Parts: sequence; C-alpha cells; structure tokens
Amino acid sequence: MVKVGIPRALLYYEYYPMWRAFFDALGAELVVSESTTKDVAASGVARVTAETCFPVKIFMGHVISLIGKCDFIFVPAVRSMEEKVHNCSKFLGLPDMTRAVIPECPPLLEVDIDMEKKRELYSSVYALGRHFTWNPLKVRRAAKLALQSHGEYKARMVREGKTPSEVLEGKSEQRDGSSSVALVGHPYLLYDDYVNHRLISRLEGQGVIVLTPEMVSQADMKQATHELAGGSYWTYEDEVIGAGGYYIKKGVVDGVISVMAFGCGPDSVMMHILDRYARRERRPYTCLTLDEHTAEAGLATRVEAFIDMVRKRR
Ligand code: SF4
Repeated sequence: MVKVGIPRALLYYEYYPMWRAFFDALGAELVVSESTTKDVAASGVARVTAETCFPVKIFMGHVISLIGKCDFIFVPAVRSMEEKVHNCSKFLGLPDMTRAVIPECPPLLEVDIDMEKKRELYSSVYALGRHFTWNPLKVRRAAKLALQSHGEYKARMVREGKTPSEVLEGKSEQRDGSSSVALVGHPYLLYDDYVNHRLISRLEGQGVIVLTPEMVSQADMKQATHELAGGSYWTYEDEVIGAGGYYIKKGVVDGVISVMAFGCGPDSVMMHILDRYARRERRPYTCLTLDEHTAEAGLATRVEAFIDMVRKRR
C-alpha cells in the first residue's frame, strides 16, 4: 500500500478529514507526523530564512520528520478557497519552497486549489488521483467523499461547539468557568500546543471558557466580516475578523484574544480591524504574536494579566 505523509501543520487542522477521506477512497495509507516538539521546530527553523513566518518553519520541521516513513508527502498549493478571496503567498508556493529547502524529502504529491479556476481545479485533482488509479470515476468518487467529509467535520464543530483538537485528536476542552474569552486566529496557531505554549489549557486552567472560530457558522462569520471590513480579501479573514466580531457583537464573551505569527502581513491588517472594533464596543482585547523566540513565561504573564483585567472590568 502506498504511504502518504501528512505534515501535522498549517492546513492539517482545517482539512485533514477531507484529505483522509480522499486518500482512503484511493487505497492509500496515511502517515501523519507526530505533534510538534522542540526538535521538529528546530529542524524547520534551520532550513529557511529568518524572515519566514514561524508556522511555515514548523511545517518544514514536520516534513523533515516524515522522511523515511512514507513514499510521498502531500503538500497542496492552496491559492484560493473561494472566489475573490486570496491565500497568503506562502501557501501558493509551499510545494516549491518545500522542495527547495528540503531536497532530500520524498516526492511531493501536489494539487493546485484555486476556486477561481474550476476547470484547472478538476484536472489538478484528477492528476493527484492518478498516482493511485487510472479510473477517473474512482477519483471523482474520492473527491465527492472528501467534500462530504469536510462538510461533516465543519458542521460537527459548529453543532457541538468543539475545536479541531477535540475532533481530530480526541482532546477534551473545559466547558465551564467563571469567564469566557474568544480566541481567534489561524488554526495552526490556535491548536499547536508547542507553538502557542499550551494557550488553551492555560486559559482553561484559569477558569476561562474558550470559544473559537470553528464554533461559529460560516454564515455568521461572513456576515460579521462584511460588517467590519466590507467582506473578505484574505483567506482566514472570517476566522479572525468574522469570528472575533461575531462574539463581540453577540456579547457572549468577556474579552477577545487574537493570535498571530510574527511578520505575517495579512494578520497585521486583520488584527488592526478587530482591535478597532473591540475598542469601539469597549470589549477587552489583546493580540499575542508568536515566533520561535516567544518565551513561555512572558506569554503566561500576558495571558494572566489580561484575564485579571477582564474579570475586574466585569
Ligand atoms: S498567513 Fe501569515 S502565518 Fe500564515 S503562512 Fe502566511 S505569513 Fe505565515
């Protein structure tokens, strides 16, 4: 059976069920890299220039950790997931960057995802499926199952108020506490415990109920993004501005924490919009910026101080 390596980083948290359904239907065996560790991070950091954002460095570390364990590594190039909404350039060039900085990695399985070019999208998916079968109907069926699985995954998180870590990794988050906070940002920052120094458990340890973007329906996030920013330009704008704006407007949280990667262009714009809205609505807001130099003690102090302030204001 062909073994396909899946790096547990970047888009993994959002699309793993979709990828699993697709490759399962084509008879491949998936090998998912282990959770991020200091060694995984260090190996990724050593391969790319310092200016590269931390999540991409982490991704490279996961690719390195899969060498020798699989026949291929799946690295999609996701340009756009909806019309006129663009992904950051790091996602567009991810396969090329991976090959360039890790020349010893197994062959990559690539697929170009661009919802603005549907015809090319279909041929790209068929080309991916051809590594496993020449039967286009089998690839088509795999793609259908993948989309269905993605829809069910998203719907379950909204319906049951769960995070990707709970659904994918069986973690259980705390659902009671004396205050509540909306935690917004890219899934690869919110759910990688090494990258964010166990931010969710840290908040829960302080008696905080954590609400995340995955618990809000796409329609509600879209509506909030439209009200705050006139619509999305960047992928993930709904998960940051939309989810944060939704929770503030509904008045269901005592404060908002956003998490961004140091040097991330799209995030710096999004966080500014959310910051302005939170100030206008007089809702406590803070933004945590992460990179490989972020010290756990510093982050813990900031989080504790923020939660103290939230409680005093209540
Ligand atoms: S959106 Fe920001 S954090 Fe994510 S890959 Fe691009 S630069 Fe890095």
